[in-house]
Amino acid sequence: MKRNTWQRESVRDSLAGIGGFISAQALHAALRAGGSPIGLATVYRTLADLAAIGEADSLQSPDGEALYRACSSGEHHHHLICRHCGRTVEIGAAEVESWAQRVAAENGFVDAAHVVDIFGWCAQCADEASGVEDASSARRAPGAADATGAV
Ligand SMILES: [Zn+2]
Ligand SMILES: [Zn+2]
Ligand SMILES: [Zn+2]
Repeated sequence: MKRNTWQRESVRDSLAGIGGFISAQALHAALRAGGSPIGLATVYRTLADLAAIGEADSLQSPDGEALYRACSSGEHHHHLICRHCGRTVEIGAAEVESWAQRVAAENGFVDAAHVVDIFGWCAQCADEASGVEDASSARRAPGAADATGAV
């Protein structure tokens, strides 16, 4: 599948230049603004291809739109993704590799691949959401009397 090589390169380059997550539509607009004649359908397909081969990270925005980001590692890996701010950490997962291989083999599957991404709230977003005040009071010993009224 070597078709559309220049288009693939230009999508890949502009995605890398953007750094963060972007929708196909916004990336297409950026490419057109830069003078590229590339079509929106090609941008969609190319981004999906890049995600499939691990050169781009993809995630679903809260309103259901697919967002993409250049992936910093060409090796097989997994992601921890903050569903609030989109912060992404690239992680290895040795346990997942052996588990996936074993389960595939047990079911007679060959050439098995998998996609495992973990979504959650990053530490920073979780802190902001829970507010600053309970950072210290959460450590009260179990059973201790609530004596915080003194101050
Ligand atoms: Zn990645
Ligand atoms: Zn976050
Ligand atoms: Zn894996």
